[in-house]
Order: sequence, then C-alpha cells, then structure tokens
Amino acid sequence: MNAHRHAAEGVDATPRLLGPAEIRDLAHLLDVTPTKKLGQNFVHDANTVRRIVQTAGVQPGETVLEIGPGLGSLTLGLLEAGASVVAVEIDGRLAEQLPHTVRVMQPGRTLSVVHADALRVTELPEDAVRLVANLPYNVSVPVLLHLLEHFPSLRSGIVMVQAEVGHRLAAEPGSKVYGAPSVKAAWYGDWRTVGQVSRLVFWPVPNVDSVLVGFERGEEPGTEDERRATFALVDAAFQQRRKMLRQSLAGALGGSSAAAATALERAGIDPQSRGEQLRVQDFLAVVRASNAAVEA
Ligand code: SAM
Repeated sequence: MNAHRHAAEGVDATPRLLGPAEIRDLAHLLDVTPTKKLGQNFVHDANTVRRIVQTAGVQPGETVLEIGPGLGSLTLGLLEAGASVVAVEIDGRLAEQLPHTVRVMQPGRTLSVVHADALRVTELPEDAVRLVANLPYNVSVPVLLHLLEHFPSLRSGIVMVQAEVGHRLAAEPGSKVYGAPSVKAAWYGDWRTVGQVSRLVFWPVPNVDSVLVGFERGEEPGTEDERRATFALVDAAFQQRRKMLRQSLAGALGGSSAAAATALERAGIDPQSRGEQLRVQDFLAVVRASNAAVEA
C-alpha cells in the first residue's frame, strides 16, 4: 500500500486514514474481492470516517467496540481520536492484516482484533463503553441485539446500516416501518437516525442507501426472563402484523383468542389493537399480566 511505500522512502506523508488509493492497494495486497455475503462495502472517504467518529462523540482514552473493521477505514478514525479499539472481524484475511495496517499508519495506538463472528462473541478482551461500526447489512439487527444483550458495558453507539433498517430501528409506534426490531431495540434504550451516507463513499458502491443510527442505553424495563418472554410475544405479534392482537397472540397467550383477549385486557391493552400500536412497555405489561394470572 502507499503507506508502506512512503515509509520505505522516508517521506513524512503517510496518510492516517484510508483513501481510495490505500483501499485499492490493501485489497490488492490481500487479494480481497469484497463479498455480498459478508456485506463487504469498504469506506474510502476520510471525511465520512471523521464525521462518524465526531457524531459518535468518541473520547480519547475510552474503549470502543467496532464490528466488521474490514480494511480498517473506521478503525483508523477511532484510533486517530485517541480511543482504544476492540475490533471483531469474521474474515480471517482482514482480521490478520488490521494490526499491520494500524502499525504502519498510526503506530503506538491500542487495538485488539478478535477474529470471530460477531453473532457469537460473548467475551471481549476489554469492556467497551461505545459501539461504533459500519455494520454488515445482512446481519445488522441481530448483531446489535446480540451485543446489547451480552455487553452491558456498552452505553451508547453510532452504527451505519441500510437506510430501511435504520428507520425501522428508530421508528415510533404507529409508523409504517415500526416492527419487531423497533420494539426490541427500544428495550435497551433510545434510538434515532442521525444522518445519511452517500453510496459513493463505499467500494464497491452498494445498491442500497445507508444511514447513521445512534442509541443511548437506558434502564432495561424488566428482568432477563421478562425480556425473553417479551421478545417472543413481539415476534408472534409481528409475524401476523395485520391481525388483531387477540388473534396474533392466541398461540402465545393461552391457546385461544378468548384467552389472549383476557390476558390483554388484564394488562390494560385493547385486544383489538395491533402489534404496531404497542410500545415495548406494553408488551412487557402483557407478559407480567399473564405471569400473574398463571401464579394466581
Ligand atoms: N468497517 C469497514 C469500513 O467501514 O470500511 C468495513 C465495513 S463492511 C460494511 C462490513 C464488515 O463486517 C466486513 O469487513 C465483513 O467482513 C465484516 N463482517 C461480516 N459479517 C460479520 C460478522 N458476522 N461478524 C463480524 N464481522 C463481520
């Protein structure tokens, strides 16, 4: 890559972030052909990277978790801001190269690379307070929910996701795009979209639009058992989102629509309403009401 060439020539012009030339050189060096399956669209625009890091409010000295560092575009931006980075990458070639890239472009920074599937990690070398990532698009929601479930140290974050997914994560009840991901995400805190990202900053150029989504973690409204039960109810409600809750939740609440209606009424929810009208607290209230009925 150019950075190697500059260093070898003793020229003090080593870029600190990856631009199109460095991305091209690195991909060539590693013989990487980006795959759709792994959602590999690499950012080659330093301004976009700095904007993400700034929007995320990354503080010097804190530990940031990055999922899918790829060739290192965002990683270098986070390190430039003075953060320590824990990066989880599923692609072995990319995971292996990243420490070398950082050593050349920003020597002396603190980086741990974990070569793993982010959907399966349950331990990390360090507790991270913030998540900053350009997520692989096909698994962005499950990755987010998995991380929030397993890493309570994460207090906030900014992630880049497919626009449609971002709007869904941040949606309020009653909106057309409000769905299971919106309700589940809300269990963990507040979500908002914080900007759009041009397709042109990626290589290869994706055929979907991207947005930045931010979250601030809040107090979880219930226990872990209640969370599982709530999420199961949410899945049932949105699997048949056009149906009234007394129908869509019949299987989950007593096996009949009459039993479901009773459970919903006990929680103060109109049995004729639909899943898209309920907040996460409403689903939790139904779980609690049906637990109380079983115990009584
Ligand atoms: N952060 C880089 C950037 O902004 O240029 C790359 C982002 S690219 C959209 C997604 C990255 O996630 C790829 O490097 C891909 O290999 C990685 N990835 C895909 N699925 C993954 C998974 N399940 N766990 C960890 N990394 C994954």
